[in-house]
Amino acid sequence: MKLSDYIKNVPDFPIKGIQFKDITPLLADAKAFKNAVDQLAAFGREMKAEMVVGPDARGFIIGSAVANAMGVGFVPVRKPGKLPRATIQYDYDLEYGKNTLCMHQDAIRQGQRVLIIDDLLATGGTVGATVKLVETAGGTIAGLGFIIELVDLDGRGKLPGYPIKALIQY
Ligand code: AMP
Repeated sequence: MKLSDYIKNVPDFPIKGIQFKDITPLLADAKAFKNAVDQLAAFGREMKAEMVVGPDARGFIIGSAVANAMGVGFVPVRKPGKLPRATIQYDYDLEYGKNTLCMHQDAIRQGQRVLIIDDLLATGGTVGATVKLVETAGGTIAGLGFIIELVDLDGRGKLPGYPIKALIQY
């Protein structure tokens, strides 16, 4: 199955110069969505992950499906003011703009092996912030999984030593 057939490129969204990769056609196709989730879940099992962490908002969609397929739990990483209990937070730069991410401070057990899942790896800012949150909480990064990697932006270069799986590379 060629997963790239289910990704739509949208030029100049949300601002001029960005080639936005729209994953909604993939999510809408039961076979393509299952194929993507199964591949990422296989990677998570291979890396012996015990928990999946996914950043707001497309990381929730893919990450919770991957966690469910693996038979492990899911932890959401959210924008400020959304999580109801005590959080830890981290600030970072996006491909377009700035952001802060938060996670419940008791979400991860000491030494727990965590698979981070997001839809897309661009500059690595989002997943880098999520890595920091997991490590601050005492977790160990088992791996980082994405549907798409924008290779030219070299997010991988910012994440040395972490096992990375990307299903489609542009
Ligand atoms: P980055 O932090 O630069 O690695 O950007 C990754 C995050 O921003 C992911 O959560 C993506 O959903 C979103 N993102 C960044 N660039 C794009 C793009 N060209 N198309 C779709 N989503 C993007």
